[in-house]
Order: sequence, then structure tokens, then C-alpha cells
Amino acid sequence: MTDLRLASISTGAISRNVETLRALVAPAQVMAVVKADGYGHGAVASARAALDGGADWLGVADLAEAFALRDAGIVAPLLAWLHQPGAAFSAAVHAGIDLGISNIAQLGEVAAASGTACVHLKVDTGLHRNGAAVGDWQEFFEAAVAHELAGRIQVQGIWSHLANAGHVQDVTQIERFTAAIAMAESVGLRPEFRHLAASEGAIKHPDARFTLVRLGISIYGLAPADDVDASSLGLEPAMTLSAPVISVRRVAAGEGVSYGLDFSRDSDTTVALVPLGYADGIPRHASNRGPVSINGVTGRVAGRVAMDQIVVDMGDAAVAIGDQATLFGRTAESVPSADEWAAAAGTINYEIVTRLGHRVARRYES
Ligand SMILES: *Cc1c(COP(=O)(O)O)cnc(C)c1O
Repeated sequence: MTDLRLASISTGAISRNVETLRALVAPAQVMAVVKADGYGHGAVASARAALDGGADWLGVADLAEAFALRDAGIVAPLLAWLHQPGAAFSAAVHAGIDLGISNIAQLGEVAAASGTACVHLKVDTGLHRNGAAVGDWQEFFEAAVAHELAGRIQVQGIWSHLANAGHVQDVTQIERFTAAIAMAESVGLRPEFRHLAASEGAIKHPDARFTLVRLGISIYGLAPADDVDASSLGLEPAMTLSAPVISVRRVAAGEGVSYGLDFSRDSDTTVALVPLGYADGIPRHASNRGPVSINGVTGRVAGRVAMDQIVVDMGDAAVAIGDQATLFGRTAESVPSADEWAAAAGTINYEIVTRLGHRVARRYES
């Protein structure tokens, strides 16, 4: 049986990407970020593939994501960093999950959990999203020292996150992070792991790598920014999104196509129906623009993206029911890229892969 909607995922590509990136950032270690279901690629499969490629750590946003990895039998070092008051910290400690901690109240909650929590203290160096504010650093670190001396926590790491606003801003954040490390050490903390950079910072700034980098989008083979060329770094896109053509028709010149009839051509054209729509994560903003490859010919979405389907304008190309339509995938196979879909929809490649819906079957190959 063929799948109606298929995201084919190469676990080998994820492993090789991690291997390539690990060599690039060495001697820093690599945390493979598999939050949001592995950016749509499947968290457990992505985590295993990343570990096979030499990832030292795994990272997720929240505890539910962390527990899912532990439940699947994954025992690698694992950090989770986005917690509400009253989160299941005791269960996390028992599951051996390291906790990213962003303020003194949260530190107190984790210290009160049963067992000794392994924590990574987060400082805000300029992103202004989470982490202790600069004016609170001293008190934050002193509280951590007190909890550590009492045996309630172990400070494994200190970390922050870059805003990716440009070189000058990055350098400022690197300097602030270095100052935070010095302050933490001056009050008696000895965090083994010091981490600031995600994919963009890790690729662009050797100075931002410290002892560990947290890599998300790049392990899936996609570029973290427009001015980074993933393929010249040796990265391969891991995901190919495709579906069979399920209807083909010739549309006469001047006739409209799809809701609102806001596509038409001056000459007759062949259009193909592909069963992927906005419920599957195909952005409606890519109406009349998104690229689709069928039999090696790239056509464009004709008219509006609907909930379950798109129509693709194929001109005079030969298309038959059952032919495979590929929206994006391995650039080596000259199909469109997630970046082209991002450009067509006015967004970033992260959103294209991460928002794929549950109706899209994930199938794994090596
Ligand atoms: C998502 C995330 C990352 C990974 O970012 P990429 O740009 O995908 O490499 C790293 N650190 C934190 C805190 C994140 O939330």
C-alpha cells in the first residue's frame, strides 16, 4: 500500500549531518535538539540517528518531550529547558533529565524536588526571552551555590541563547556570556558545560562554541540562515515530502482553478491534484507560488492551497494519475527545497518542516 501523504526521512542523513557538524565545532561537544517532534522528523528516530552520528547530548524544550525520549529507552544525557511553575521536576530528576533553569524561583522549586537535580543555569545575555536578567545574576548564582552545598542540586552547566541579530550583536552576547561565566566561577560554581550557540552561531562563530553547542535545524540538513549554504558545509536534507497525483485534467485558457478561481492562464494547461493541504502544514501563503516536482518537471501551486489538497500547474508536461509529486527534499535529486517553500510562503525552513501535520506518514530509511 502506498501512503497518501509521505514524509520520507533519512536517518542516515541525520547521522552524517551530526558527524559533519561535530567535526566542524570540535573540541566543543554537540547537543542534538529534537524538540517539536524532531522538527517534524520524529523525535525518537531523530534522537537515535543523532546519537549514532556522535551527538553527546539531546535537547528538548519541555518535560513531556523529555519523558517521551526516556520512555523510548533513550538514556543519553538530555536537557529540557521550558517549564511552567509546578512542572514535574521530581519525576524529571528520577528520569535523569537535566533541567535548564531560568530564574531564582524555578531554582528553588527544583531544589525542593526529591533527589539531586542536575541543572544548567540560564542567563539572559540579550535575547530577552528567558534566563536570569543581568541584575539578578549574582543572587541567582549565590542561591545555586547554597543549594549545591546543601546537596539539593548539581550545577552541570551555564548557558544562554543568541539573538542572531548580526555579528556585532553576537560579539556583545559572547562577551556578556563570558562575564557571566566569570561571575559564576567567582562565587564558587564550576559548571562543566558552557553553551551559548545554536546552529547559526555554532557555524558562524568559533568564539561562540564554548564547550557545547545546541544544534537543531542543521542536523536535519537545513540552513539556519539565508547566508549559510548547507550543502557546501556537507549537510544533506533529511526529509522528502511527497504524495501521489490523484487527479489530472486539462484546463482551458482563461478558466480559474481552486477556491476563488484566482489562478488562470492565457493558454490551456495541465493541472495535477496532490493530496497535501494546509491541514498537513502546507502554508496557505504559498498559494500560486509553492514549487512541486513531478517526473522531473517543477510546476507551481495553481490557485489557493486548500485544507487537504493543492492543484499544481504543469503546463504541457506529461502527468498521469499515480505519478509521484515531490514538494521538497534532497537537493541532490534536483527537487525543490524546504528553503524554496519558505521563500514562497514568506517564512523560514524551520516552520516548513516543523508544521507538517499528523496525517503525513513518516517513513524511515537509512
Ligand atoms: C530550538 C533551540 C535550539 C536549536 O536551534 P537551531 O537554530 O535549530 O539550531 C538551541 N537552543 C535553544 C534554547 C532552542 O530553543
